[in-house]
Amino acid sequence: MQKVEIICNNCHKESFINKEPIYEGLTKIGEKVSCTSCGFVYTNEKDIHYKEEAKKNLIFDEDDKSEKIKLFSENETQNLCRQCSNYIINPFTQFCALHKKEVEATDSCNKFAIRKNSDN
Ligand SMILES: [Zn+2]
Repeated sequence: MQKVEIICNNCHKESFINKEPIYEGLTKIGEKVSCTSCGFVYTNEKDIHYKEEAKKNLIFDEDDKSEKIKLFSENETQNLCRQCSNYIINPFTQFCALHKKEVEATDSCNKFAIRKNSDN
């Protein structure tokens, strides 16, 4: 049976819902919904405070966020000066041979040419 987490109205504990079918003869006429912690019987489903719902929304938000961060960092690793053949580094400066100016390793430009020699 699927466990549904609730915050009980009666005992105010984090609890589970206990569903029992109600039979009239052999026909199921409904369900008795009660708190597994204190046994309080809910007669109206609107009275039940589901815990699961709030938690799901939170998890969804987190997924959304991490997805965006991932896409952003992927773009950032492309066309970086430190991976460019025109990038010259010495103890004093980082220099772009093409633009004849100082650059940062994390800079990028549209004249980017990937470094082919593998002496890193
Ligand atoms: Zn309870």
